[in-house]
Amino acid sequence: MSDDGFVPNADALLANNERYVEEFADHGLSLTPRRHLAIVACMDSRMDIFQMLGLAHGDAHVIRNAGGVVTDDVVRSLVLSQRLLGTREIILIHHTDCGLQRVSEDEFKTELENEFGIKPRWSLECFKDPYQDVRQSMSRLQRVPYLMDKAHIRGFVYEMADGLLHEVEPDQRHID
Ligand code: ZN
Repeated sequence: MSDDGFVPNADALLANNERYVEEFADHGLSLTPRRHLAIVACMDSRMDIFQMLGLAHGDAHVIRNAGGVVTDDVVRSLVLSQRLLGTREIILIHHTDCGLQRVSEDEFKTELENEFGIKPRWSLECFKDPYQDVRQSMSRLQRVPYLMDKAHIRGFVYEMADGLLHEVEPDQRHID
């Protein structure tokens, strides 16, 4: 236990894993996701991506970060996903009540700089409107030269209050 009373989870999770191994079955899954699908979503712990979409084990790549933002590293994973692992469709999922809506980029970075004496190089990618942010992410994907398949890119906002996905129309200026 830490001084502040926090009990780390890893040991309990390892015990869970031992039980998991007892019932482990090799499903014969392919390295290529069954649905040839890659999903980019916010890391928010309230969203169970597989459950909300009715996906099964082995169906899709799920790439998650704060906001579900299309960063260079997300692009890296998507390019690999398409070129080496056979995915052909990308679904973006952002959501209402996101942590990134509650912070200010400048204030957050200034705070870090004041505390640690160095400003982070990365962008926090804060946003106010999740719909606009999905649109921005779809536009970024359209600009990535290395993606083989851009014909099947769709974006959604997950409504925290009722679990419904709302589709976001892409910015037509960025569609080939
Ligand atoms: Zn979020």
